[in-house]
Amino acid sequence: MGKNAFERALARLDQAANHVEIPAETFKRLHFPKAILSVSIPVRRDDGSLEVYQGYRVQHSDLLGPCKGGLRYHPDVDLDEVKALAFWMTCKCAIMNLPYGGAKGGVAVDPKDLSMLELERLSRGFIRRIADFIGPEVDIPAPDVYTNERIMGWMMDEYSDVVRRRSPAVITGKPLALGGSAGRAGATGRGGYFCLRELARERDWKAEDIRIAIHGFGNAGQSIARLLHEDGYKVVAVSDSCGGIINKEGLDIPEVIKGKTAGRKVEQVYCQDSVCDQDGVDVISNEELLTLDVDVLIPAALDDVITGDNAGDIRADVILELANGPTTMEADRVLDERNITVIPDILANAGGVTVSYYEWVQNRTGDYWSEDEVDQRLEKRMREQFAAVMELADDLELSFREAAYCLALKRLSAAAEAMGTQALFNGKN
Ligand code: NAD
Repeated sequence: MGKNAFERALARLDQAANHVEIPAETFKRLHFPKAILSVSIPVRRDDGSLEVYQGYRVQHSDLLGPCKGGLRYHPDVDLDEVKALAFWMTCKCAIMNLPYGGAKGGVAVDPKDLSMLELERLSRGFIRRIADFIGPEVDIPAPDVYTNERIMGWMMDEYSDVVRRRSPAVITGKPLALGGSAGRAGATGRGGYFCLRELARERDWKAEDIRIAIHGFGNAGQSIARLLHEDGYKVVAVSDSCGGIINKEGLDIPEVIKGKTAGRKVEQVYCQDSVCDQDGVDVISNEELLTLDVDVLIPAALDDVITGDNAGDIRADVILELANGPTTMEADRVLDERNITVIPDILANAGGVTVSYYEWVQNRTGDYWSEDEVDQRLEKRMREQFAAVMELADDLELSFREAAYCLALKRLSAAAEAMGTQALFNGKN
């Protein structure tokens, strides 16, 4: 039987453990999620009928602090996927030196099938079911695929009702008016942009010579596209769930964003338009986009899109993983052999959780920062941790991905050792 998503995610850890000396028990701890909650959420549809949805929250580790991670609404959500995503959050928070462990949650639902009011009832119902499991000092959710700041606002409000006190710090990625942070909405893309800028500095790139393709044009994809376009990079292709578009001279990114979101009205949560509705561009498939002749490929949609089947056809020199888990291990081996640089998800998309952390700090202190201050703090942290991963990769002659996992393991290990490992308890330390 093939490995499930969680087992496949852990295989990266097993690989990294060969390169760093850490107590075997740190490693053992990370193979088991701390706690798992599975819930059913009854939702009254607008026509009066009742639908029941399956939801999950997984706390993978709280070694470094309260658990932290997003909530996803997608028909493919299942427990193994949520466990894998929670594990990646543990690693990501460790790499960014955040005082957080890892968690993730999700509901198996196609949210585009629901009306606005049904979506609100589902979101509030989910929070009522998991309210005892989460909390500002325990486990703090955030947005992920097909959830957004409006949904986070409903969830914070519902949690506050359940515990009978206003609790903005229970959830991040909220609207500004409900205690959100300036700079949170674009933070995932901005964090990835800072990584790419560091690499560009290393490689002496000229922005106008670099062609970029972006797979997935939602929160993360749009925000990095905008920043790269402003710097003069040529974003030649982007795609969404309906397909992709290409213009070899570079797309007019603000126009594409305007076009994609034009159909979004106040009473809608999801935009109805696709990038494919754009004028003056050629339409391509998502598969074609992944293998375009570009310098940088940015997967920014879902997991497992670069696989053993298409890794040999990838023509980009650099892959910046904004999505979680877009590259399988089999693909990794092929990309490595072909000397394609991969900036791994647990570093490249860590800007989101970093600014979520800033939001949480602001909620807890009541001291709110300007967007400039948030961006500057994010830039400093991304540059520092990017440098730390690069240094480890150089020292140990590893890929960026292996080095990132080694860095996470070292930091998680320090926490486990501080509580005592076998060496302490049998008197050898
Ligand atoms: P989103 O819902 O805003 O956007 C997802 C995009 O992917 C949409 O444009 C959608 O049309 C597209 N898409 C869906 N199915 C597709 C398919 N089969 N092929 C191509 N495109 C497809 O989600 P997001 O928040 O931008 O998240 C995207 C990725 O980034 C996810 O892997 C998520 O886990 C990761 N991520 C997001 C955050 C965050 O703060 N939002 C943080 C870290 C990582």
